[in-house]
Amino acid sequence: MQGKMMQMPLRIIDILQYASEVHPDGEVVSARVEGDIHRETYVQAFERSAQLAHGLKGLGIGDGDRVATLAWNGYRHFELYYAISGMGAVCHTINPRLSAEQMLYIIGHAEDQILFTDLTFVPILEALADQLPSGLKFVAMTDRAHMPESKLDLLCYEELLDGQPLRYDWPLIDENEASGLCYTSGTTGHPKGALYSHRSTVLHALMSAVSVPKSLNEGARILPVVPMFHVNSWGLPYSAPLTGASLIMPGPHLDGASLFDLMENELVTASWGVPTVWMGLRAEMAARDAVPASLTQLVVGGSAAAREMIEFFEGKGIDVCHAWGMTEMSPLGTQAQVSKSMQDLPKDVQIDYKSKQGRRVFGVDLKIVDEEGKRLPHDGEAVGELFVRGNAVVSGYFNNEEASAAAMDAEGWFGTGDVAHIDKQGFLSLQDRSKDLIKSGGEWISSIDLENIALGHPKVSNCAVIAIAHPKWEERPLLVVVPADPADPPVLSELHDMMLEHVARWQLPDDMVFAEALPLTATGKVSKLTLRKTYGDHVLP
Ligand code: ADP
Repeated sequence: MQGKMMQMPLRIIDILQYASEVHPDGEVVSARVEGDIHRETYVQAFERSAQLAHGLKGLGIGDGDRVATLAWNGYRHFELYYAISGMGAVCHTINPRLSAEQMLYIIGHAEDQILFTDLTFVPILEALADQLPSGLKFVAMTDRAHMPESKLDLLCYEELLDGQPLRYDWPLIDENEASGLCYTSGTTGHPKGALYSHRSTVLHALMSAVSVPKSLNEGARILPVVPMFHVNSWGLPYSAPLTGASLIMPGPHLDGASLFDLMENELVTASWGVPTVWMGLRAEMAARDAVPASLTQLVVGGSAAAREMIEFFEGKGIDVCHAWGMTEMSPLGTQAQVSKSMQDLPKDVQIDYKSKQGRRVFGVDLKIVDEEGKRLPHDGEAVGELFVRGNAVVSGYFNNEEASAAAMDAEGWFGTGDVAHIDKQGFLSLQDRSKDLIKSGGEWISSIDLENIALGHPKVSNCAVIAIAHPKWEERPLLVVVPADPADPPVLSELHDMMLEHVARWQLPDDMVFAEALPLTATGKVSKLTLRKTYGDHVLP
């Protein structure tokens, strides 16, 4: 028998409308590219989103059209999130750290109609101008006074809003319609698009709110360091207004000193970001011998949080919440807060739990499987490949059947490419990665892409790229080369030059070592595990 209840579509715009009515004092505070601090309440943000939606409509944007952003965390980016999705279009956030080649690929693949850019990124676009689609329109996210001279035909963000009505007749769209698009690196080949829906996004915001209540509550002031171009800032632009928390947007200033100052000046209560960022904050706290006054929680994810780092912040009275997730999961999958009953355990044991990736959030199911796909027990010992399922998990990739088929198992679960065990309390513990990717400062480097380029060099007979642990960036790439002629090995700078035609400068291998041969697995593949054991202690320059 069916229930007898109404059904209303879950819509993203309803989050901001709700915040504007119920949390009218909640605000978006932004350190702007222009150099000052800007403030707007959720009431103003909702009105300006309406004005922006009118502006977008005037530019011809309609249902399902992709509108791209190339921007830092700030209020205009926040307004774009709501205006674009709210009117039925799709907000495609572009990661400015991608190589030119990857950026051109995703703009083409997404078929973006308009690209909104922060002033910082105008030079990147100018350099690509000849290769960008001819019909693509550009909007600089600033006011008339700050509009740059440019060879691009730049429209002005504030002029788009000027004089537009403060209300918009937000369409009652189907909750399963696409709302956002975010590309993530493939192990090889092109980036793959996670295409979020209104439903998945609203549910993810609700899931986050109940899972991380220490960060997300009325009156909280959250500083998202994780970029809005990286999995929607882990969903904070949705979950914060939903719960009545304010957003303190750092703009381009992500170093320890800038973050410390912003935290102090804006009474930040919680902040979310990758370990590299917290290493910067930690150094700043040590240098000043001070703790940001209102800070009560740091959420750490994207790469493993080192136990020692967790101990440092906990020792300063700041709760550390280690979290794990993926672009394909919107992204939250697990969080490692200890439950009430565990708070009586010795601090050391609590830190053991906090160092793991944590327990599933509501709405995410986890399973680990062996090589045949058979489920393994959650006993803290059996290690297998981690699969997930849930309402905010992708069911495939945008316009990419091959990658979609490869990602899903026969039961419809998504393969994460992470290798883990899960203990009896449900704590996930990542052990390895089956995907051939290196994560540096929270962003991906494809080992296989670098290998393929290096293999094109006449002096390289075989090669492999592996991750080496790095104190600042978590991981950095090391190139292991079997030279064609050991008496005349290749030079790293020559290989760098070849790679720079395809990858970004920060993705280049830090160092190169030579080997007589590469170790192989039983199935004849290069054994990265053996290589990591052999060269794990290699000291990078
Ligand atoms: P995000 O960086 O936001 O987590 P990505 O899709 O870029 O999203 O990366 C997801 C991958 O990052 C995971 O599959 C895992 O390999 C790694 N990762 C994320 N969080 C953690 C964590 N807490 N510990 C270890 N690895 C992590």
